[in-house]
Amino acid sequence: MMKKTLQMNRSEKLFSEAQKYIPGGVNSPVRSFRSVGGRPFVASHGKGPYLFDVDGNRFIDLVCSWGPLIHGHSHPRIVQAIQSALEKGTSFGVSSELEYRLCEKIVRSIPSVEMIRLVNSGTEACLSVIRLARAYTGRDLILKFNGHYHGHADSFLVAAGSGVATLGMADSAGVTKETSSQTLVAEFNSVESIQTMFRTYGDRIAGVILEVVSGNMGVVPPEMEFLRELRHLCTQHGSVLIFDEVMTGFRLSKAGAQGVYMIQPDLTCLGKVIGAGLPVAAYGGKKEIMEKVAPLGPMYQAGTLSGNPLGAAAGLASLEIIEEDENSFYQGLDHSTSHWANHLRSHIEHKSYPVSVAQVGSMMTIFFCPEAPNNYLEAKKSDIKKFRDFFWALLERGVYYPPSQFEACFISSQHGSSVMEQVTEASVAALDDAFGAKA
Ligand code: PMP
Repeated sequence: MMKKTLQMNRSEKLFSEAQKYIPGGVNSPVRSFRSVGGRPFVASHGKGPYLFDVDGNRFIDLVCSWGPLIHGHSHPRIVQAIQSALEKGTSFGVSSELEYRLCEKIVRSIPSVEMIRLVNSGTEACLSVIRLARAYTGRDLILKFNGHYHGHADSFLVAAGSGVATLGMADSAGVTKETSSQTLVAEFNSVESIQTMFRTYGDRIAGVILEVVSGNMGVVPPEMEFLRELRHLCTQHGSVLIFDEVMTGFRLSKAGAQGVYMIQPDLTCLGKVIGAGLPVAAYGGKKEIMEKVAPLGPMYQAGTLSGNPLGAAAGLASLEIIEEDENSFYQGLDHSTSHWANHLRSHIEHKSYPVSVAQVGSMMTIFFCPEAPNNYLEAKKSDIKKFRDFFWALLERGVYYPPSQFEACFISSQHGSSVMEQVTEASVAALDDAFGAKA
């Protein structure tokens, strides 16, 4: 390992204090850095591709708030949009034009989304959408996939990947057996697994929810045959197909992963990019199903701050920037990420490291296993110890990689070629470091 040179005194002091009054010193577990076995830095501010900590360290940020910051930190147009909304008030308790405009833009962007409802977090979108699937079908069971994360509602804390996985918890304490027993778990990318589930439970499955491109086990793309079969089985059995596009919505294309893989779900969950770093999320889909939502229909769901004007302004600005030159926007992101991925792959091959790189658009994971995984069981074979060494070696070199093997990097439009060149050089060196090789 390279010698530690990072000064993190103030971060360490603040974090130690915080642990006295916040569980683990964090407001969301992954921020604790426990899965990389160290203490986290505490953020001070962000600008473009950079995140600064309270000790004055500057990191190239490959986490980008876990996805929302597709335009980087404090993009001037998003800041401006929030500022002008702020001057008019923070919440009204009745509808505002801004939220209508955001909803309309989303509906126009994603063909399968005919109606939409705004909420405040991805968790809320996902828990609402399964209630809706149950209300629409009158059935009880939900099918999810091993290693997929859909927020922390009780029904989803079964084989939930990422944070839960890296903390080594099979399930969360406090979830009743009755609730868990209504969640079926199948293997991602396995046609056989979904066929078996539908053969056994088909007429009881209200909805199937999945991350089309898995991000919460690290990046694992879907196989087309699997997606097609899933669409077919849901239609055949009258189950609602739900794409959780909280990560992928507006990130992989304007129409999300469904716009890339060209399979239409019945319902879609959105979050992250549609709020540009403010708490905005949504669920939407077929009119016939969405009409079951209150006050139009019998499925109750509400929120004091839903459609909040600051979030709506930020989200709207974010989507407007994308729309101005949609094709080159996504091509640019893809190009920046591919440049990094390709350089790493050739270095890995040259040095024969047991490492693989998975990339879809601006989402990428370096897996410390020789073959890029196809499902969670394969992802779990990664060498976590080597990953940790890599993570710290990279942080020492001024690059903040997600502090868990089972997560995705998110690249923003502000990660230009010279920044990605630095990321490439640093990650090549960090790999050599982790494997104890001479550079
Ligand atoms: N679904 C997916 C696919 C996610 O990645 C996440 C969060 N990472 C969620 C749902 C939950 O979103 P939130 O953290 O906003 O509740």
